[in-house]
Amino acid sequence: MPQLVDQYQRKFEYLRLSITDVCNFKCTYCLPDGYHRQHKKAFLTLPEIRHLVAGFATMGTQKVRITGGEPSLRRDLCDILETVKTTPGIAKVAMTTNGYRMARDVADWRRSGLDAINVSMDSLDAKMFHQITGENLLHKVMSGIDAAFDAGFEQVKVNTVLMKGLNSHELGAFLAWIKPRNIQLRFIELMQTGDNPALFHAHHVSGATIMAQLLEQGWIEKVRQPTDGPARVFCHPDYQGEIGLIMPYESHFCDSCNRLRVSALGRLHLCLFGEQGSELRPLLQHSHQQPELQQALLTALATKGPSHHLAQGDVGGTQHLASVGG
Ligand code: SAM
Ligand code: SF4
Repeated sequence: MPQLVDQYQRKFEYLRLSITDVCNFKCTYCLPDGYHRQHKKAFLTLPEIRHLVAGFATMGTQKVRITGGEPSLRRDLCDILETVKTTPGIAKVAMTTNGYRMARDVADWRRSGLDAINVSMDSLDAKMFHQITGENLLHKVMSGIDAAFDAGFEQVKVNTVLMKGLNSHELGAFLAWIKPRNIQLRFIELMQTGDNPALFHAHHVSGATIMAQLLEQGWIEKVRQPTDGPARVFCHPDYQGEIGLIMPYESHFCDSCNRLRVSALGRLHLCLFGEQGSELRPLLQHSHQQPELQQALLTALATKGPSHHLAQGDVGGTQHLASVGG
């Protein structure tokens, strides 16, 4: 079976699958006015997800990340996790969540097959957390992180969108927080989308400013493995935790791209900042459609460009990341 490799010899062993675009938070950079439904279509069903993941797995996909919107708002989340985890060829199931349901449900997610978890937390300051996410729930996310360790996750990854004037001064506090904890804190540079240009121009700051401070304080960049994605990871002998930097505006960021995305409505997105995506849903209705699905993936992949055009201010068709599954 042909593998998911593009004309630039990038191998796509990682699928990011959005299972809903609904969200209960109002992050300023993503859904500042909250979620408003813009379509009447139902999200991918469990059988559609099963057929989709099975098709990807036959072509070399080994890792699936469940995302959204907020994936934990789906009532059948545990069934989805179990379905993905038991698909032959899938070695790792990860999920990105805003942490809202984590304290309550993370043990069930783990029992259903979740191997790795990323939780978004943009500030250690409760007021700033509220300001950025629209919800006064830092305490809830914090107890969710504790619950994840209690449930047996050895490491928790925390996503923090770096924003000048909002949380960029919190590096010291974040470092103190991860010193005794096996947390990989990942600073993600704020990305421009169709909906957020004013916020982007006011608050974008390069992750290089964090990198300079880390290097000055004795942090060391870990050697990247060929299967690693675009995050650059730093460690320090005195710290249990690690720092990751995701800097999509760096040149060559896309050289290490290893992921494809499918939206909650079943559209294949070759890039977070690509165009409308190609429709896969009609090919997910029966298991015997697998050859057609495989051919559709190969045809689409042949058109994947070498990189996005974010640095030129071109955000493709992406209004906000909740629609594509960030
Ligand atoms: N709702 C879940 C959450 O927030 O973790 C999963 C979906 S969310 C779209 C995935 C990740 O994308 C989150 O870590 C979020 O902070 C990040 N994100 C969303 N919009 C972004 C933007 N404009 N720039 C950088 N990161 C963004
Ligand atoms: Fe919701 Fe995640 Fe977007 Fe925040 S970043 S509004 S939690 S989808």
